[in-house]
Amino acid sequence: MRSRRVGFGLAAALWVAAPCAAAPAAPTAESPPIAITHVTVLPMTPGGPEVADQTVILRHGRVVALGAASKVKPPADARRIDGSGKWLMPALTDAHVHIPNDGFLRTTPGHIGTVTGLFDTQDVLTPYLVNGVLQVFNLAAVAEAVGQSREVETGQVLGPHIANAAMVDGQPPVWPGQTRVATTPEEGRQAVRDIRVEGYRYVKVYSRLSEGAFDAIVEEANSNGLKVVGHIPNIFRGQTDKAFVPGYGLVAHAEEYAKQSKDLTDEDIARFAEAAKRNGTWLIATLTSSDWIARETASLAPVKALPTLKYLSPAIQAQWLAGNRYQANATPERLARFQGIVAFNNRLVRAFVAAGIPVLAGTDSMVPGVVPGYALHDELELLAKAGLSNRQVLEAATRLPADWLGVAADRGTLDVGKRADLLLLTADPLADVANTRKIAAVIDGGRYLPRSQLASMLRALAKKNAAAVPGLASVLPQGGADDDDGGG
Ligand SMILES: [Zn+2]
Repeated sequence: MRSRRVGFGLAAALWVAAPCAAAPAAPTAESPPIAITHVTVLPMTPGGPEVADQTVILRHGRVVALGAASKVKPPADARRIDGSGKWLMPALTDAHVHIPNDGFLRTTPGHIGTVTGLFDTQDVLTPYLVNGVLQVFNLAAVAEAVGQSREVETGQVLGPHIANAAMVDGQPPVWPGQTRVATTPEEGRQAVRDIRVEGYRYVKVYSRLSEGAFDAIVEEANSNGLKVVGHIPNIFRGQTDKAFVPGYGLVAHAEEYAKQSKDLTDEDIARFAEAAKRNGTWLIATLTSSDWIARETASLAPVKALPTLKYLSPAIQAQWLAGNRYQANATPERLARFQGIVAFNNRLVRAFVAAGIPVLAGTDSMVPGVVPGYALHDELELLAKAGLSNRQVLEAATRLPADWLGVAADRGTLDVGKRADLLLLTADPLADVANTRKIAAVIDGGRYLPRSQLASMLRALAKKNAAAVPGLASVLPQGGADDDDGGG
C-alpha cells in the first residue's frame, strides 16, 4: 500500500514538472503549397513502380499533382524542396501498438485511483512521428485513446492517426484495466454494441474468451459493421480450425499460432495457413516483440542498453527495467519456449506469405524493449529476413494496413488526392528496407518536418524525461499472468 501512495505522489510531481510542449502549427488554408522536385517516387500502389525525376505538389495537406519534373511545374508561391537523390514514399503504419494514457491507470483495480497528466499525448507520439510512422493500430484502446486520436485529427499534436480497437476478454481477464469482460454469448453481443455506440470501429478479441462468447462477438461485430482483430482464444487449442469463423479478420501476432501449436511443427503451420487462407484472415507478425520477450527473459542488459529508452516516459522506463515481468518470471524453460516461438514465427510468416495471406507490419510497441517508432524499422528488417521481398515488406507497412483498416481512400499510398503523409528518404527502401531509417524529412498532413526539426523535438523530449521524476514502476499496471505470457 505504501508504494502506491508514493507512486501517486510521484505522478503528481511529474505532472507539475512536465507541462505540455506546444506542437508546430498545422497548415492552414493560407499555407503555401510545397513542391518536391526531381524526386524518385515510390507510390506503393498495386504494382506501381518506382519513378525517377518526379515533381510532387502538396497543398492543404493533400497531394494535388504528381508527374515528370519536366511536365509538372511548381506553383509560383510554392515552397520548393529539392528532391534530387532522394526517395518519396507513403508514411509507415505500425499495425499493432499500445499507446499509453492515464486511463490505463485509472481503470485498473488495485492501482492508484485518479491520475491526470502523467502521459502527454505529443510526448508519447513524438517517437512515432520522427520515425515516419503516421498510422498506428492501437490494440487495447480505452476512452482516453479516443481523445488522443482526436488531438491528432484536430492538429493539436503531431503524430500518427490512431485507429482504436476496444478489447473483450473472458473471466478472469488478462489485462483488467484495458478490457471489457464477456463470459456468455449475450454478454459478448452487448459488449460489441457498447463498443459501437462509443465510436470504435474495431473489436479486439482476447485469450480467455469462451468459444460461445467469441463466436457471438465476431458475428455481432460483423452485423454492426465493426472489424475484428485479436488473439486466438486459448479454448481453441487442439481445435484451432474452429476459431476461423467468418469475420475473424486479423490475428494480432504470429505468436498466437505458436500458442495453438503443441510442438511448433511445420505440419501445424501448414494447417494454420490453410485455415487462415480459407477464412480470409490476415496476420500481424509482431516478430519484434517475440524477439524482445526472448531476449529480456535471458537478460535485462539489452533493454538497459537501448539508446532510445530516453524518449520514453520515466514511468515506462521504470516498468521496463525495475518492473520487467519477463525478467521477473524468467526460467530456463520459459527462455527455451520463447526462443522456440521466435524460430516458429519466422517459419510461419514465410509460409503465410507463400500461401498469399496478407501479412502486416506491427510491433506490439510498449511490450518492454519495443520502443515506439524505432521498433517498426526493426520489424521491417525482421520481415525481410523471414523471407518477404522488400516490396512485400514495404506493402506490409503502407498499403495493406490501410486496406484492412478501411482508410485506403485517404492514405497508405502516394497518389493525387491522398493525404500528404509522406516520408522523404536519402536512400532507396526497395534496395534495402533498412533505408526507411534514412529520413530526410517526415511530411505529416502536409507539414514538412526536416530531419533537423525532428532531431530537436527528440532532444527536447529526452531532456524533459530526464528532468521528470524517475521510479514510477509502482503506478503502472503490470497485467495478469497469461499462461504463455506473450505480447498483449
Ligand atoms: Zn499488443
